[in-house]
Amino acid sequence: MARRKPKLAVWKFASCDGCQLSLLDCEDELLAVAGAIEIAYFLEASRATVRGPYDLSLVEGSITTPHDAERIRQIRQQSRFLVTIGACATAGGIQALRNFQDVAEFTRIVYARPEYIETLATSTPIAEHVPVDFELRGCPINKQQLLEVITAFLQGRRPNIPTYSVCVE
Ligand code: SF4
Repeated sequence: MARRKPKLAVWKFASCDGCQLSLLDCEDELLAVAGAIEIAYFLEASRATVRGPYDLSLVEGSITTPHDAERIRQIRQQSRFLVTIGACATAGGIQALRNFQDVAEFTRIVYARPEYIETLATSTPIAEHVPVDFELRGCPINKQQLLEVITAFLQGRRPNIPTYSVCVE
């Protein structure tokens, strides 16, 4: 019987999509990786989705709404390994500038009906909400490092990347 391919999912939270584009930018390398994995959920690349659980989840973006906070908990439950990619996911991103200001005042200034805006007072990294197996930093991330992370998790080893931090489960 054919061995099941590991399932990869790519998730987006508050971000500019630049880190996901780094994955799409891998082109030939991604095709090679795609031979070894099933790209089960990656809305930036395809509307076709496969239900979890997932072997590896890549998470871009920070947590900025109550819905985000609930969604990342559900993603964590469905993911054997969870890797955060990029400064938004690992540090809160440029949107974390809000953490030093009054968000309610921002929404009053920007939106005609601020009462419809449901947002958190802060933008926080994924690791503040759920355990993270590996953080890949950068803005955007380096595509060779991203390929190394994917390959390493597929091979059951730690990624060989010089500067990283790990939140041990
Ligand atoms: Fe965009 Fe930078 Fe955030 Fe990546 S880390 S999603 S490139 S703003």
